Amino acid sequence: MQLTPTVLTVDQGGTKILIAECDQAGHLFNSRKYPSDVSDQHAATKQIQSAIAEYLKEPHHGDIKAISISTVGRIDSETGIWYEINPDHPTPVALADIIQKQFELPTYIGNDVYSATVAEQAFGIGQTTDNFIYLNVGTGIAGRVVTNGQIVQGAHSDAGEIGHMVVDFNSKEQCICGRFGCVEPIASGLGMSRATIEKINAGEDTSLKIDDHGRVGTEQLFPAYDAGDKVAREVVDRALSALACLILNLIRVSDPEAVVLGGGVTNGDWLMTHLKPLLGNAVTHLMKVGVVKSQLDPNQVAIMGASRLGFVKGGLL
Ligand SMILES: [Zn+2]
Repeated sequence: MQLTPTVLTVDQGGTKILIAECDQAGHLFNSRKYPSDVSDQHAATKQIQSAIAEYLKEPHHGDIKAISISTVGRIDSETGIWYEINPDHPTPVALADIIQKQFELPTYIGNDVYSATVAEQAFGIGQTTDNFIYLNVGTGIAGRVVTNGQIVQGAHSDAGEIGHMVVDFNSKEQCICGRFGCVEPIASGLGMSRATIEKINAGEDTSLKIDDHGRVGTEQLFPAYDAGDKVAREVVDRALSALACLILNLIRVSDPEAVVLGGGVTNGDWLMTHLKPLLGNAVTHLMKVGVVKSQLDPNQVAIMGASRLGFVKGGLL
C-alpha cells in the first residue's frame, strides 16, 4: 500500500513546539507538543532539533517528504535563514540548512504570521480572493499584504511589521522600536495589559485584577468593558480606535477585497462586534468581503500554513 505523502511540520511558539505530519489538504496527524523557549535563537534551534529527533522515533502516519518550520522573528523563506527574534540582537542561523543536513529531508522555514497568511491563502479567504490583508492581533500586532496572489515579503523579509505604524501622532508613549504612538503598544494584548496595569498601579478605581502571570487579559478586559468599568473602557476604547485606524490605513495601501483578522485578541465575537462600527463605509465600500474574522482554527493556522509552504516549495502538490 502506498503511504500518503506528508510534510513533518513544526510550529514553534513562545511556550510550546507543536509538531505534526500534515497532508496536502492541511490535515494534521500525530500532533505532539514539546517545550519551547524563544528567548535565544541558538537555544531555540537546539530545541527544534531535539523535538524533531524525538518525534521521528515514533511510528509515522505517512511518507514524510519534507520538513517545514514556522517560528517567530525575521526569516528569509527563500534562503532559509533565520535572522533574528529580537531586532536588537540579530544572530543569523541557517536553520533550514541545519535541519536539512541533520534529518536528510528538504527543509523550508517561514515566520508565524507569514505561515498564517499562507494558510489563509490556501485554506481560508484565498478561496474567495487573491487580494487581502492578514492581520494578527495577539500578544503583538503584525500582518501580511497579499496582492494578486503574491505575499509581499520586502527586500529584507521585514514586510508586515505593521504593529509599528503610528496611529497616535501626539502620543508620549515610546514603543520598543523607538517611535511614539505605534499601534502595537496601544492595541495588542500585551499593550492593553500594560496600559491597564499602569492605571491599576496609579490607584485608579477598577474591578480589574492583575493575574498570576502578571497580566490583565482580554478575557477580563472585555467583560469589564461591558459592565462599564472606567479603566477597561479607556484602555479598550483607545485600542479599538487604534486598530480601526490601522485597518483603514492599510486598506488605502493595497486596495484589498478583504482584511482578515486572527490572533488571540480576536477570539470570540467581542472584538469584531465592537470594531465594525468604527470602520464606517467611506474606506471599505469597494471591498467585496470587507473586514472579517479568520475562519481557520487559531491553534492550527501557523502549522497549516507551514505545511503548505513545505508542499509548495517541495514541489509535492
Ligand atoms: Zn513601534
